[in-house]
Amino acid sequence: MNADTQSVTRILRDTLARRLTILGSTGSIGLSTLDVVAHARAQHGDDVLPLEALTAQSNVAALAAQAKKFRPRIAVIGDERRYDELRQALSGTSIEIAAGNGAILEAAARPSEVVMVAIVGAAALEPALAAVRRGATIALANKECVVAAGDVFRAALERSRAIVIPVDSEHNAAFQVLDFAQAHAVERVTLTASGGPFRQWTRERMETATPGQAVAHPNWSMGAKISVDSATLMNKGLELIEAHYLFALGAEKLGVIVHPQSIVHCLVSYSDGSTLAHLSSPDMRTPIAHALAWPRRIASPSNRLDFSLVKQLSFEEPDKDRFPCLALAEDCLRAGGTTPTILNAANEVAVGAFLEGRIGFLDIARVIEQTLASHHNAGHERAANLDEVLAIDADARDTADTLCRRMAA
Ligand code: NAD
Ligand code: MG
Repeated sequence: MNADTQSVTRILRDTLARRLTILGSTGSIGLSTLDVVAHARAQHGDDVLPLEALTAQSNVAALAAQAKKFRPRIAVIGDERRYDELRQALSGTSIEIAAGNGAILEAAARPSEVVMVAIVGAAALEPALAAVRRGATIALANKECVVAAGDVFRAALERSRAIVIPVDSEHNAAFQVLDFAQAHAVERVTLTASGGPFRQWTRERMETATPGQAVAHPNWSMGAKISVDSATLMNKGLELIEAHYLFALGAEKLGVIVHPQSIVHCLVSYSDGSTLAHLSSPDMRTPIAHALAWPRRIASPSNRLDFSLVKQLSFEEPDKDRFPCLALAEDCLRAGGTTPTILNAANEVAVGAFLEGRIGFLDIARVIEQTLASHHNAGHERAANLDEVLAIDADARDTADTLCRRMAA
């Protein structure tokens, strides 16, 4: 081995020696993260990417199986009633166990260099902030926490040594092609959207869309909530707001383009006329591997692009009449204040009601629009702190819940 190879190996060793916590390990992103860990361990040995904590909300069987295979120091189940089940499943191992939302917060606060935030919804907010406060590197898959509490999240980041590496594929792509030293020269950041399963559906047909049809995404395999968000295009709306907070970009510099092949993830255009794009197969293990290793790179088991098979890269404007959720999110991005908090809360409630078969697909946008309208006055002030965000979030959830009940009646 020559000196160069030795130093490359040492750098990789340091990267792979970093301790990792995965919040939401049993979900789609959690599973993909563990896939990347397994790939690294198969290549470099069982001691690489050691795990501090794995957390899940309710699936004890999946969490216990992961814990036995990946050996975290602690496994935490959010649902307190499942503590005994987890204890039995992990008896005979030396893995610590805990249960409850407080225990998830404590897991996020335990020392680990990297924290993958892969909990779904605004429930990720407090654990993410716990990891931010102690200065961890945050591999951020969850977008709802940034949308719900953008100002508070950014303020916490500024007060700590924490770094956020976005995992959301478009933001991870932007992070890779944005020249942060030339921020003045960035003219536009364009996020691509697949268009979801209803890209070519009429509104009349969408009125009848079932949860099963909405979660059947053409390109990505994801959790139920984000799959519905992709079908309404709210996912892209949330991502515009996420990009605004993560990259300090104004609404006028942010755009969305529908790109059905999901190969180009983000386009960054500069004042000299250059546009830089990030391309990869639609597989979250690529941005996950990037975030886990940044500023280095490690191997991912994701499929490689074969450009001889990529026949076409096409782009089209999103249709905001058929996908009103995107327009609602753009309004909130421009209005700022607490409107993104209200938007996110109403969306979470409405998507939950749709998945339970209580409201129709197009009712999701109606619930969000009416929730925003009824909080119109509150919406334009900024939340001063986390407690205010949580209070506004809870209020908006109440309103949205009432609207869902009314629509279901
Ligand atoms: P998922 O529903 O598959 O998994 C969610 C995970 O969070 C599970 O481990 C679950 O146990 C845990 N969880 C659920 N509710 C919880 C609560 N109240 N408290 C603590 N833990 C809880 O979701 P996912 O598709 O993996 O998405 C996770 C996050 O990543 C979302 O914010 C999503 O928007 C974002 N994201 C996902 C993808 C994707 O491809 N799946 C892509 C980009 C961004
Ligand atoms: Mg995305």
